Amino acid sequence: MPEVFLASRNAKKLGELERILAEVAPGVTVVGLDDVDAYPEPIEDEATFVGNALLKARAGFAATGLVSLADDSGICVDALNGMPGVLSARWSGKPKSDERNNRLLLEQLEDVPDDRRGAHFVSVVAVCHAGGEFVVTGEMHGHVIRELRGTDGFGYDVLFVPDDTDDDRTSAELSKAEKDSISHRGKALREVASRLLEIL
Ligand code: IMP
Repeated sequence: MPEVFLASRNAKKLGELERILAEVAPGVTVVGLDDVDAYPEPIEDEATFVGNALLKARAGFAATGLVSLADDSGICVDALNGMPGVLSARWSGKPKSDERNNRLLLEQLEDVPDDRRGAHFVSVVAVCHAGGEFVVTGEMHGHVIRELRGTDGFGYDVLFVPDDTDDDRTSAELSKAEKDSISHRGKALREVASRLLEIL
């Protein structure tokens, strides 16, 4: 059975890739960082999502020899000139805390009026394999609300209302399937999955 490696320990990301691959490329197994021998993981110090995703996918391929995927993602807020962007995970400093990040973003946008609260999530997925490498980008557009809502999802989902739904739910109030169908990572992973069919 063909295997692909996703350079991540995040069970939600691994699960998302498994669900999407099961639809597009059934029979492909996903292994994560905890399923392979430990190797030196690169520091994500690039200035772009593409740079960081490639760093991680290349290191994964060098260590495992498997078709290797890595994603780098974040939220880009219009009123913050596209920040936090690649700094999303640790926007409020170390150690990483979604709760602190969300509180900080709310404070930063306190005086920003409703019509200027646009934002989008970006996911860049890099794929590295014996025949070469490529990157795919997915985006989910919407706006940042003024309170935390919802219990699903992770990160900034509790603050973000996507444009692509009929109602006013945050991405933390969508079912997994609903979020997958419109999310930045869902879009990027579906494209990657169809290209993996040609490689595996
Ligand atoms: P990464 O794991 O280095 O890609 O971290 C990206 C960070 O961006 C996460 O820690 C979250 O704060 C944020 N982020 C990325 N994708 C999402 C999402 O789908 N929902 C909410 N937050 C996200």
